Amino acid sequence: MPKIDLVAGLLDANEMLAEQNRTLFKQSKVFTVNLMGVPGTGKTSILEKIISSLKDKLLIGVVEGDLYTTTDAERIEKLDVPTVQINTKGECHLDAGTVRKACLDLPLHQIDLLFIENIGNLVCPAEFDLGENARLMVISVTEGNDKPWKYPLMFRRADAIIVNKTDLINYTDFDLKQFTEDMTNINQAAKIFPASATTSSGISDIADWLYKKIKKQAK
Ligand code: MG
Ligand code: ZN
Repeated sequence: MPKIDLVAGLLDANEMLAEQNRTLFKQSKVFTVNLMGVPGTGKTSILEKIISSLKDKLLIGVVEGDLYTTTDAERIEKLDVPTVQINTKGECHLDAGTVRKACLDLPLHQIDLLFIENIGNLVCPAEFDLGENARLMVISVTEGNDKPWKYPLMFRRADAIIVNKTDLINYTDFDLKQFTEDMTNINQAAKIFPASATTSSGISDIADWLYKKIKKQAK
């Protein structure tokens, strides 16, 4: 099965580079967050809100992954944080080597918190370790309840899941209680944050959780 060998080889090579990233991030005293979720779920909008709520306390940097465009990076740059755009030109995930290269364009030693917005996809980004300290997933109530069962690896590896667009929940059949129960079976340790990037509800809880994690790591 040569195809499987090829994928395994790619993942091995990635793991080595991810380990190097981990060392780099540690030496630079930067806490890194891998932000994942499908397109349209509101990753960038959530990120804008988290940045606004933490930027007085922490120096924040962003690596924006996107297939072809720079629109998300332009939005983030408006918040006055150092931002680097990666265009993968069709590649459906970020890998450790690509992130490493992007980091060369950032003042890593000055940054406390680095967000890496991954490509909108729930499959392979879960498999590619970037050397991050935390994996944050964004889903939204408009996508329905079945995501954890369809993409178990991503949900199993997440440290926290932001359930975005809760301002629209009454217009959907999303069942937060059922979702929370399903998640207990898949990944009991994952924190679940109901939130809305539109109304800012829940954002301070996410920011507090991240801030505490960063302070703990820095000790
Ligand atoms: Mg985005
Ligand atoms: Zn991919």
